[in-house]
Amino acid sequence: MNNIDSNIIRTTEESCIEVLETQLLDIIQDVTDDGTRIIEEKQYKANKRRICEDDEGPLKKKPKLESPEVEADPIITIKTFGSFLDCPICHELFLKPHSLKCSHTFCSHCINKWLRQKKACPVCRGVVLRKPYYNRLIDDFLQQVDSRLSDCEKAHRNNVKEEVVQAQARSIQEFKDAANKALETGTKFLNINSQWNAREKEVFRIGYDKYDREDRIVYCGLTGFTQESVEQADSNTITTMLNNLGVEVPRYISTQPVRYDYEMARNILLDILLG
Ligand SMILES: [Zn+2]
Ligand SMILES: [Zn+2]
Repeated sequence: MNNIDSNIIRTTEESCIEVLETQLLDIIQDVTDDGTRIIEEKQYKANKRRICEDDEGPLKKKPKLESPEVEADPIITIKTFGSFLDCPICHELFLKPHSLKCSHTFCSHCINKWLRQKKACPVCRGVVLRKPYYNRLIDDFLQQVDSRLSDCEKAHRNNVKEEVVQAQARSIQEFKDAANKALETGTKFLNINSQWNAREKEVFRIGYDKYDREDRIVYCGLTGFTQESVEQADSNTITTMLNNLGVEVPRYISTQPVRYDYEMARNILLDILLG
């Protein structure tokens, strides 16, 4: 390579560096401008969230808050927490939050309804083998949030709660009506006090898994499995009930009846019925 070529290359390199520097400055400027705009938008959106349209009329920008301490707003809005406390199924704040083994959390009524159709987590699709468990930590936190909602958010949340309660009441009533109709027409149900064979146990289990909460109590009641029958059952009946439900009877109950052992067995039965 001769000198002329080297000069051309150097000149070209220098020229390129100049162009790059200019572009870089432009980019930095853009980023700064854009960053400022984003921060302003975030501030505006945060202020906007705190204003309830019903309470305070048209949305307007609130003055900037001066320090982090002042930013602690006593009014916590639903949107303040974004999707953190939203049920992935109904997209409302959790109601009686229940979690799956995969740690995904939902409203109790939402996940129970879902699991009646499909035994998989609606979020991660993981197979669900155990029933959802009550998530007290989230529920305690929700109660704190509930008490700090703005008036219109409280009204909305109460409406949602009311709708769920009414829907559950309708469902239970429909189920009770169907059960009574079946009884009236002479439909025979399994009796919890008779020893069931494997197929009968399976039939009962399918229905048990299909229903939850009050529907389940009605379903169990059709077989004579009720809170009263458990509380009044003698030791033999308790053993039969446990066998029918597929609960292993502890040996010391069968061989050495002790009152508190049966109390424990009663609690197991009540947990199956009401849990
Ligand atoms: Zn839900
Ligand atoms: Zn999951």
